[in-house]
Amino acid sequence: MSSSHKPNNRHRVVILGAGFAGVRAALDLSRQSHGELDIVLVTDRDAHLDLTLLYEVATAYVRHESDISSEQIQSTVQLPLQSIFSGLEVDIVVQKVVRIDTAGQLLILADDTTIDYDTLVVAVGSSLATFDLPGVGVNTFSIKTLADALRLRHHIVRQFWQADSLAGQARKSALTFVVAGGGASGVEVAAELIGQIRRQCKRHKIDPHEITVIILEAGPRILATVTKEAAQRAHQRLTNIGVDIRLGARITEVTATEVRMQGGDYIYSRTTIWTAGLRPNPVLVDSGLPLDHWGVTVSPTLQVPTMPNIFMAGDAAVITDSEPPVPATVPVAYAQGALVAKNIRHQRRGESLEEFSYSPPGMVITLGSKVALALLPNGRYLFGLLPWLLKHFITLRYWLRLTTWGQALRLWYRSWHIHGAND
Ligand SMILES: Cc1cc2nc3c(=O)[nH]c(=O)nc-3n(C[C@H](O)[C@H](O)[C@H](O)COP(=O)(O)OP(=O)(O)OC[C@H]3O[C@@H](n4cnc5c(N)ncnc54)[C@H](O)[C@@H]3O)c2cc1C
Repeated sequence: MSSSHKPNNRHRVVILGAGFAGVRAALDLSRQSHGELDIVLVTDRDAHLDLTLLYEVATAYVRHESDISSEQIQSTVQLPLQSIFSGLEVDIVVQKVVRIDTAGQLLILADDTTIDYDTLVVAVGSSLATFDLPGVGVNTFSIKTLADALRLRHHIVRQFWQADSLAGQARKSALTFVVAGGGASGVEVAAELIGQIRRQCKRHKIDPHEITVIILEAGPRILATVTKEAAQRAHQRLTNIGVDIRLGARITEVTATEVRMQGGDYIYSRTTIWTAGLRPNPVLVDSGLPLDHWGVTVSPTLQVPTMPNIFMAGDAAVITDSEPPVPATVPVAYAQGALVAKNIRHQRRGESLEEFSYSPPGMVITLGSKVALALLPNGRYLFGLLPWLLKHFITLRYWLRLTTWGQALRLWYRSWHIHGAND
């Protein structure tokens, strides 16, 4: 095993993960440390991915499918790390981390090398929980990574090609799409799927009435974390565009062709999209860090208790006893990335550290075509085209924070063009 030791005696901060939290922490530290720190960003991908747009990847409709369709679609949701950190003193290491050795202050990488740290920022996000339900791990699709979203897209497109030669039960199960979970991700992917399906039906001359999109939600309503009124508005919208929402539906097993539910009900479907629940990223599980919900327990200063040189940010940080509970969302990840950068500087100067304080910033949930629901910080909501435009504006503003005007506008235009093709 070879190792990367510090080439100089500068304090080394290693940031693990280049999602919303990791990129923000690395940007702030590098812009403000004036060369005092040796900053290393370790991540398993050479690009920063906007996870919130993966439902667009999974449901993207391309008029002329070709070998480069996937490449074109991918390019609408990610930015190369080299362009984000161009001109900044950040060493980027693209490798999967397989273990965090907190005793040795080391990261162990998939290529068997190690990187040592003085301060570690862990921002590895979260993984999907399958609740050990039979078949869920192997027979469902998800939209948690770019590879997942592209795999789902290929599968959906294939169902339409194959349906041409199928009849009876087999055809029904090819044309039935089940979304497990009625949270924001489940709602967005179900709504966008309707747009993709309409176009695929036209292309394959299939009667749209043959298609079924079902949301299975175990709870009494979809969008459990938003107000009842806003959730009802979203429910009504989904029903109007043809999504069949089944509440109180508990999945017990998923096979390659069926979804089975408590009470003996079942649905014939070759496509179950799993969006229900989060668990910690596997790299955290063997690290000896204190796990909680979908991450690691941290103090309000985002440090791991008893390990003051390890900070957590984003989905991987779970603040104990926080009221209201801090959700796993982009605004939280982004704000925590910034706070961790600040606290590392405070710690270096011997100053007291700042605590993370959370007030819900609002959220936009797209509901198919050019319609969205904006949940405002005051608890009210907006519905229709305006929130949909707001979502595009928020995305553009985010890209502008990371890169040049030219690159951000090109990326935004590409995503507007490709994601809009099924609206
Ligand atoms: C489909 C979907 C839709 C969503 N929609 C919204 C939304 O509309 N609004 C909202 O606020 N939130 C949304 N979320 C949640 C939001 O995406 C997350 O809260 C956010 O991405 C968390 O940011 P993060 O930086 O903690 O982790 P991530 O963005 O997940 O980044 C984790 C980083 O760690 C890297 N990494 C992971 N494991 C390793 C390893 N072993 N070695 C090296 N690198 C590793 C990854 O490659 C990545 O760079 C959505 C999530 C999904 C999946």
